[in-house]
Amino acid sequence: MKAVAVFPKGREVKVIDVPEPRLRSPTQVRVRTLEVGVCGTDKEVVEGRHGKPPEGEEHLILGHECLGEVVEVGEQVKGLEPGDLVVPRVRRPCPSRECRACRAGAPDFCVTGEYTERGIQGAHGFAAELFVEDASYLHPVPRELREVAVLTEPLTIAEKALREVERVQARMPWRRQPGRAVVLGAGPVGLLGAMVLMRAGYQTTVYSRSPKPNPKAEMAESLGAPYISAKQHPVEKLVEERGRADVVYEAAGVASAAFEVVKALAPNGVFVFTGVTESEKAQLDEGLLMKQMVLENQVLLGTVNAAAADFEIALEDLGHFRSKWPGRVERLISARHQPEDYAEVVRGEKGTDIKDIIVFTRG
Ligand code: BGC
Repeated sequence: MKAVAVFPKGREVKVIDVPEPRLRSPTQVRVRTLEVGVCGTDKEVVEGRHGKPPEGEEHLILGHECLGEVVEVGEQVKGLEPGDLVVPRVRRPCPSRECRACRAGAPDFCVTGEYTERGIQGAHGFAAELFVEDASYLHPVPRELREVAVLTEPLTIAEKALREVERVQARMPWRRQPGRAVVLGAGPVGLLGAMVLMRAGYQTTVYSRSPKPNPKAEMAESLGAPYISAKQHPVEKLVEERGRADVVYEAAGVASAAFEVVKALAPNGVFVFTGVTESEKAQLDEGLLMKQMVLENQVLLGTVNAAAADFEIALEDLGHFRSKWPGRVERLISARHQPEDYAEVVRGEKGTDIKDIIVFTRG
């Protein structure tokens, strides 16, 4: 069957021919890949800055944002049957007995770093015509979400972030309103983050580099989130126009831009980082940052990967978003390509405005 893989040695991305996977245990499911999303993490992997192939192999099959259709189920699988739509989770637990997080079924909090992530870290991904996965890592998708369900995985990032923010903010039992939020970056993670924050009741502003007009700004504003260009307006101007934010949701993956926006965080606010970036020397006044954080009880919070509960909520939210903003979620998917185009898409040579999707099976 056809698969798209990166060969990190030569930094090559190729369509290759690999044997079809078979069920190896009664709890496994064989899935036909319908669509795979391409994101910034894939770019990092392809450029050799993040991730690695499975132990002893020279290539890694890419793809961690996926929508598939069940083709075969093992004897002990309950609740799934051929024809059902599913989205898979990404991270698998580390083997260490010492890792309480992984042993408790929360590999997104793994402490050894020996977890695997399908399509990213030491395990083949879903950018292939078929894949096999344990049923416990698959989430059933309602038919009516067929067009947009490939966005589930990137949406889980925001769902986990909101869950964490709300836990932190439970430290203020008097708090009545969610308050103001700034989303830094207007890519898919940013726009999906804005949707999650707005649905939770935050007055949300999207702050991103490109000057207006541009398609991402139009998208943000059509959701009801004012868009401010970071290129045209320094952070001070953002604060002047929109006030300081109770939550800043970083989805730009650029450290210097992110730390600049810490200035816009309100007292008792939470700043959430989601980007996996390369080393970058940010221009920072550490003293001022420390003083601000201490005197204003601020929290810098990093969040990675997502848990089963986040996938469940993401699937529910995709439905809610479609009724709240008709036609918008669909428009986040700005182009669909074929597997042969993967290399160009991931390098941005064929990429479009918001979300590029690779189609493996039509229908
Ligand atoms: C994925 C996460 C993963 C992270 C780091 C993100 O793009 O959504 O599942 O944990 O990259 O590898």
